[in-house]
Amino acid sequence: MKRRKLLKGLSTLPLIGALPISQAGAISSPARKKRDIIQELGIRSFINAAGTLTYMSGCIMQDEVVETIESTSRHFCMIDEVQDKVGEKIARLVRSEAAMVTCGAFSAMTLGLAGVLTGLDVNKVEQLPHLAGTGMKSEVICQKSHNERYNHAFLNTGCTVVEVETIEDVEKAINEKTAMLHFLNIQANAGKITHEEWLALGKKHNIPTSIDIAADVPPVSNLWKFNEMGFDLVFISGGKAMRGPQSAGILMGRKNLIEAARLNSPPRGFTVARGHKVNKEEILGMYVALEKFVSGDHDREWKGWEASIARIENAVKDIKGITTKVTVPELGNITPTLTINWDDNIVKLTGREMRDRLRFGNPSIEAGFSGLPLYHYQAGSDSVDPAVAETLKGGNLIRVTAWMLQPGEDKIVAKRIREELQTASKVS
Ligand SMILES: *Cc1c(COP(=O)(O)O)cnc(C)c1O
Repeated sequence: MKRRKLLKGLSTLPLIGALPISQAGAISSPARKKRDIIQELGIRSFINAAGTLTYMSGCIMQDEVVETIESTSRHFCMIDEVQDKVGEKIARLVRSEAAMVTCGAFSAMTLGLAGVLTGLDVNKVEQLPHLAGTGMKSEVICQKSHNERYNHAFLNTGCTVVEVETIEDVEKAINEKTAMLHFLNIQANAGKITHEEWLALGKKHNIPTSIDIAADVPPVSNLWKFNEMGFDLVFISGGKAMRGPQSAGILMGRKNLIEAARLNSPPRGFTVARGHKVNKEEILGMYVALEKFVSGDHDREWKGWEASIARIENAVKDIKGITTKVTVPELGNITPTLTINWDDNIVKLTGREMRDRLRFGNPSIEAGFSGLPLYHYQAGSDSVDPAVAETLKGGNLIRVTAWMLQPGEDKIVAKRIREELQTASKVS
């Protein structure tokens, strides 16, 4: 079993760090004890039945990624050379002209736009984020329904985002300051303008087009779909379903734009993006994650997720007052998602209470909670906004996904949710 192998691999990893190292400066001690730093600091770790959420540390990296990080950490390399070589390989895998590793999809958005603004002009690179009087463009056009929080990445370059709704709006909004036309794939069905129409507008006005597909694999084909469609820049996360480093992502697209983005990125220090540093371990780890993801057995993985979800569903659906439903999001975070709903006259719990019982139970489990997208609220910040207090009770439901579960954890999740639902049913 692939999963079993994975678990085994992970459990042996800390030992690698304890092996004697012959290279300069490394301390070798065969007697060095395995250190559990998470436990030592009293940090809560948990079973992740929620999904690839940044505030939950995203994903467990693939074995090969961890091995890459481990082995490359013993060597020095020139960052630009690593980016050159990795970029070439990634571009071939995703069928784009060029690519680079960024420190996430958000970083790819800032860097991509910075490249559009500056081209290869070092003076302009140094001037960002000050645009007035520099001759650089300063506006990104985006459909209103696509103007979500991550577009803040564009503001970091000094640009503003101009919202539009119709093709006519775009035609009116385009002016000499327009730098880029941006599309958010997860919201593709919420806007009036399709991918093809968006691309046609870019072509007609000779303005670069970009697309955020941060959470849009699987399907694996989305890695090249939008490059082949003709988007000039494509942004994706590395630490979601690809299970690369959580602090990595990929910027892919036109060669001249990637070159310009590179000029705006570390190791260069006169840029807005000096803080977007990705070290060689992560650049190489990202490449390995992508390579493994592209060649992975996605059908088999999907069936595994379905089986885990079915196991959890079957464990609870006979409880009185419970309804269950398995859905697959049409866009973004495409994975079987189980919603467990209950009649709160029978099961005396709010969604939030359920979440907390799982969170503070043994073992600790995080499940998806509330009707709002989970990522609006971070741990510990739930109570700050009274306007959403009611919503934050989380209705009478929790959501469960299996893609971030490790082997055997589905059984534990099934048992714990069942226990809590039954306990809450006995309260009078
Ligand atoms: C996760 C996400 C991002 C941010 O990605 P990072 O890799 O964490 O920087 C941007 N856009 C969308 C739609 C996302 O889901």
